[in-house]
Amino acid sequence: MTPSGNRVFKDPVVRLSAGLDAVLPVAVLTALPQVARLTPAERRRLAKECADTVTAHGDDLLYGGPHCTTTFAALARGLAAGALQPGGVTVAGHHFCASPHEDCPTPGAAALHARLNS
Ligand SMILES: [Zn+2]
Repeated sequence: MTPSGNRVFKDPVVRLSAGLDAVLPVAVLTALPQVARLTPAERRRLAKECADTVTAHGDDLLYGGPHCTTTFAALARGLAAGALQPGGVTVAGHHFCASPHEDCPTPGAAALHARLNS
């Protein structure tokens, strides 16, 4: 809990609720194996579809609403697609990557990198 309530402020642009902040890494890791099986073209298509869903229903994700669950799944799958790109993806203070790279802010994830690539 932060002094400002139940919001976690790690990023000046994207602010996640404390609950979302806690479960997002697990959701992305859960989505990674399925997304990793896609071809690069399929992954790009998935990332676009996920971005469209988050754009359309991000308010439900942040404040609750009828599309909260599907939007959360889209966010996790889209970030999994981003994690598989060189250099990974960083959002709201979370960095997701599936292979070692220069300037990785989470070099301790080397064991995860090895597991994802085996
Ligand atoms: Zn990284």
